[in-house]
This record gives sequence, structure tokens and C-alpha cells, in this order.
Amino acid sequence: MSCKVVLAQGISASYREELKNTIKTRNIRPKLVGFLANEDPAAAKYAEWTAKTCAESGVEFELRKCSRNDLENKIVEANQDAGVHGIMVYYPVFGDRQDQYLQNVVDVSKDVEGLHHKYVYNMYHNIRFLDEAKTKKCIIPCTPLGLVKVMEYVGVYNGILPHGNRLHGRVVTIINRSEIVGRPLAALLANDGAKVYSVDINGIQEFHRGVGLKLMKHEVSETTLKVEDVLPLSDVVITGVPSPSYKVPSHLIRDGAVCINFSTFKNFDGDEIKKKAAIYVPAVGKVTVAMLERNLIRLYDYQAQDRAS
Ligand code: NAD
Repeated sequence: MSCKVVLAQGISASYREELKNTIKTRNIRPKLVGFLANEDPAAAKYAEWTAKTCAESGVEFELRKCSRNDLENKIVEANQDAGVHGIMVYYPVFGDRQDQYLQNVVDVSKDVEGLHHKYVYNMYHNIRFLDEAKTKKCIIPCTPLGLVKVMEYVGVYNGILPHGNRLHGRVVTIINRSEIVGRPLAALLANDGAKVYSVDINGIQEFHRGVGLKLMKHEVSETTLKVEDVLPLSDVVITGVPSPSYKVPSHLIRDGAVCINFSTFKNFDGDEIKKKAAIYVPAVGKVTVAMLERNLIRLYDYQAQDRAS
């Protein structure tokens, strides 16, 4: 078996090192506030993990626990506090459209997770900067951004091509089309030039910029193709099915494919996938947290820029 297993620890190392150096050499103390308003043990674990990673890189992290009914006011307080540079919320809180409302209560200038409508809209429309002078890059949601960084690290992005077209010619299947990860990821990769088959429980959509990347931003078309049709065509297979019993059928994976799992559960059979894949990334969580901190530094600088102007 010649499969190379690539761990998130290694992928995130250079980002974590850069963050640590930036914070140390510039002698800054960016502050991230995380709101925990649910009883979900997975959220508590993620919060613990965020705290640990922030401590290692020199980011001040404060976990604020509150009831879900107090959360909105607590977010507004943090929005108004100049000592808070970034805000995140551990979702789900209400588990319905109210969570979407809360995502938009977080001020755009402090939204480290990139979940505010402005960022989401800009991402889908391939608008990469917040200002006309192109000095402020838009914040991209952490997990989709982390997956882009994973793909850059393992060499799926072709550095010879110009930025924005570096996935031209690549075919990617993403098994998950949630609003948090799968759909934004499909849009980002298609905007970068890939042909993406986006699979969910109800079927498959194709995200692409057309032949020769003639479109400025991706378009989506329905397809009658099935998983068994698209997996053998795919250079990259990314999966995030939240179920312990789900396994991607290894026999359908193209020989030499890049296989990436972001689900908490192991969507690939570890032994089988290593017989087919050239590169296997079993988890990405550490890269996601590194992107969260990277977004925080970006927002810290934008806030300083705004105060100076
Ligand atoms: P979700 O429930 O919102 O979405 C699941 C998606 O998978 C949906 O699009 C659904 O249609 C699709 N799906 C489910 N079963 C399927 C099947 N059999 N075939 C094809 N598609 C199927 O979940 P989510 O918030 O996107 O999270 C998914 C997983 O990713 C969870 O395990 C979550 O913990 C993990 N996650 C990881 C990170 C990270 O940074 N590592 C971040 C966010 C979420």
C-alpha cells in the first residue's frame, strides 16, 4: 500500500507557528469570546479545545456560558466592547432558524466564523474583498476554509495557475451539503475552478464555472448521476456524513484519489481506503481551529485599521 496518511496536526503546524510568531513579534493580545448556550458535550469539548489552542498561540480566549434566552443580549454586549476582537457561538443553540438570526446578530467586524450573511453572500458570489480598495479580505467560514487549506497542503491546488483558477480540471465529490460546511465548500471549490459533485441524502448537484472557466462565479445544475457514477470520476473525495454506520464505498474510489474526512465519524474504512487512495486525511479539526485564529488576527487588524481612519 503506497497511501500517504496526512494528519491535521501536521497540516496546521505552519499556520499555528505563524500565528504564534505574529502575536509574539507584534506584541498583540487579540481576544476571542466563545458563547456556550447549550448542554451539548461535543460543543463543550470543542470549547475546551479552542481554549487550549488559543493558549498555545497567545490568543486570549474567554468562554462565556449563558442561557439560550440571554444569548442575544450577551452577543450585543460583546459587539460593543472594544476589548473583544472576535466572537463565536457554539451551535446549535435553538436548532432552528433562530440560530440563523443569531449568526447575524454577531457584528460583521467580529465574526470569526464567517457566518454573517454578508460573508456568506460574498462567498457564494465570489466577492473576495470587503472594500473597493481590496485591502480587506472577506472572512471565510472556518471548516470550509480549513478544507481548502488541506487541499492546498496535499497539492490538489495547482500553483502554476493564477489564484482563483487553481482547481481548473479537478473533479471533486463532496458528500454533505449542509449550510455550515458542504454547500459553502462546494461553492468555494467551484469558484476556484473545480467541477464539484455535491452529494446529499436527496441527490447530487453539480457546481462549476463552465468549460474554460468562462463564468466569473460558479453555477449549479441538477444531475441524475448517482454516487456510483461520480466517485470513479473524482480526483478528490471529501466526506462529512454525521453517522457512525455510513462508509464511502472504497471500491468505487478512483485509484490514486485524495480522500478527506471531516465528519466526527470515520466515513472511510481505514484499511480499505489505504489500498486505493494516494492521500488520506482522516480528520481536519485542528486545521479548522487554526483558521478560526487566523480569521481573528485578520479582524483584529481590520478593527485597528478602522480606528485609525
Ligand atoms: P448536517 O447534519 O447539517 O449535514 C449532514 C449532510 O450530510 C447533509 O447534507 C445530508 O444530506 C448529508 N448526508 C447524510 N447522510 C448521507 C448519506 N447517507 N449520503 C449522502 N449524504 C448524506 O451536519 P454538518 O453540520 O454538516 O456536520 C457533518 C459532520 O461534520 C458532523 O460529524 C460534524 O461533527 C462534522 N463537522 C466537523 C467540523 C470540523 O472542523 N472537523 C466542522 C463542522 C462539522
